[in-house]
Amino acid sequence: MTHHARPPDRPHPPAQARGCRDTPILKQRGQHEVFCGLTGIIWLHRKMQDAFFLVVGSRTCAHLLQSAAGVMIFAEPRFGTAILEEGDLAGLKDAQDELERVVVDLLTRRADIRQLFLVGSCPSEVIKLDLARAAERLSAKFAPKVRVLNYSGSGIETTFTEGEDACLAAMVPALPETDARQLLLVGALPDVVEDQALDLLKALGIGPVSVLPARHLESGLAVGPNTVFALTQPFLGGTHAALERRGARHLSAPFPFGEEGTTAWLQAVAREFGVDQAHFDAVTGAPRARARRAVAKAADALRGKSVFFFPDSQLEIPLARFLTRECGMQALEVGAPFIHKGLVGEELDLLAEGPTLAEGQDVELQLDRCRAARPDLTVCGLGLANPLEAEGLATKWAIELVFTPVHFYEQAGDLAGLFSRPLRRRNLLQLEAAE
Ligand code: SF4
Repeated sequence: MTHHARPPDRPHPPAQARGCRDTPILKQRGQHEVFCGLTGIIWLHRKMQDAFFLVVGSRTCAHLLQSAAGVMIFAEPRFGTAILEEGDLAGLKDAQDELERVVVDLLTRRADIRQLFLVGSCPSEVIKLDLARAAERLSAKFAPKVRVLNYSGSGIETTFTEGEDACLAAMVPALPETDARQLLLVGALPDVVEDQALDLLKALGIGPVSVLPARHLESGLAVGPNTVFALTQPFLGGTHAALERRGARHLSAPFPFGEEGTTAWLQAVAREFGVDQAHFDAVTGAPRARARRAVAKAADALRGKSVFFFPDSQLEIPLARFLTRECGMQALEVGAPFIHKGLVGEELDLLAEGPTLAEGQDVELQLDRCRAARPDLTVCGLGLANPLEAEGLATKWAIELVFTPVHFYEQAGDLAGLFSRPLRRRNLLQLEAAE
């Protein structure tokens, strides 16, 4: 076997002659394991610093939010639950009135709130509480100081990342119109990561750049026919459609995960804005080299190992691309809740043929396939991780990926590290057991 050293400017295999774009997709419908869309409030409320998220739901919803928030962050009073009592289920009119009373009380007490999201839940949907109407009436009452919007975070038939998509999509129709030529970054990234992305774009000479969601209501964010937008998360299908309805144009690209994904994403933006290739290489050269080194270090434990994705976060396809192409892993099955080729088509082009591509889920059948495949690493939701660990499989909770900074060059090593840690831990456990 001969070994060909790769030239330093070509660190990755070229796009496969045959990627997965046309691979037949296994589609199954049945019981599925999901985590509800209310979860997004945990990261969205940190991003939008003058927003409040009021979940219109049951005590179950309040508990879910509290336990998710308790685990992930310190309590901050910028989200809450308007509890629908059992009596509300009978008297819809009373529930509407009660909700408006709660909102008026909240907004009178809290002058810092500039955007209020009424977040629908399973119970509010079951009783068909009209949150759009409530938001409209309350918006008229509190305009221009407060903007009241609504979206659904309900857990029925959704995945936990859909909450962010629904929230951002709800904001789009309310944005002012602009004719200005601009780049819009779409997706709620941790501030430090967003700042890195903005610095890179600035160094490339690309601007003006806006971000959805903006940190504050009065950020000047607007949209129109000369807006081009780049998504930083692959789960924003609804937001993508809402922006296109406003005349904005999507820049299709791989997502900025890993060195390769980040470079391809930046390259797509740079091409659109006419950045000269020599300048692009000069700006990205050093961070690319740093990212490559960091990934190589963290990927030691991953090379040659197999990975199986259950559908959960909608990040599965870009992550499979990163793990196979930059970390030397082999993907056995890549399951995703939805496969929207307009968003992940370029990712599928890069992902080499081989793994089963699955959309949707029949969890029992998929568990059978996973057990038969015995992957070295299984990426899945919280509900499946414990039973699979008990069966001796190393798992990674997909939800951690949205709570950890993983995008762009400086986080590429951490992203690989998130996957290598469970494998290292399992090796240690096996060593201890053998002693
Ligand atoms: S929205 Fe539905 S799934 Fe989510 S916590 Fe409330 S009841 Fe449960």
